[in-house]
Amino acid sequence: MRIGQSSDIHRLVEGRKLILGGVEIESDLGLLGHSDADALTHAVAEAILGALALGDLGKWFPDTDPKWEGADSQVILRAVAAMMDERGYRIGNVDSLVLIEKPKMAPHIQKMRANFAAALNCDIERISVKATRGEGLGYVGRREGVLAQAVVLLEEKE
Ligand code: MG
Repeated sequence: MRIGQSSDIHRLVEGRKLILGGVEIESDLGLLGHSDADALTHAVAEAILGALALGDLGKWFPDTDPKWEGADSQVILRAVAAMMDERGYRIGNVDSLVLIEKPKMAPHIQKMRANFAAALNCDIERISVKATRGEGLGYVGRREGVLAQAVVLLEEKE
């Protein structure tokens, strides 16, 4: 087994979509970034790269590459899943957390889990997505940005 972890931060701004875990969520503020800026999906993808000791997400999907401009981060996650598969590993489990002041994530958690399970070719029971507010504190609480974190365990395929 191999363990990996990651965090990702994106700025919240007007005039951008809020996409987290591959779900477009109605919001007055959205995430700024080169791709669709899905911080939660980036954290999960980079945690898998970490477990494989393959470096960070920017090494494989540089934000200077026009190929990834406005990219669907679920496509990036699927590419990482293929790298995992090629190296002989599969998902043991994923635990992830997004820190966002509002809107509420609860109505979207199941869809996020389903998206991750589909991209990673595993059972939804192996995928955990959680959310918490910033309680008005710090950059999360002031709605300046969103922080996402993920821990993954990979198992060697038989
Ligand atoms: Mg990112």
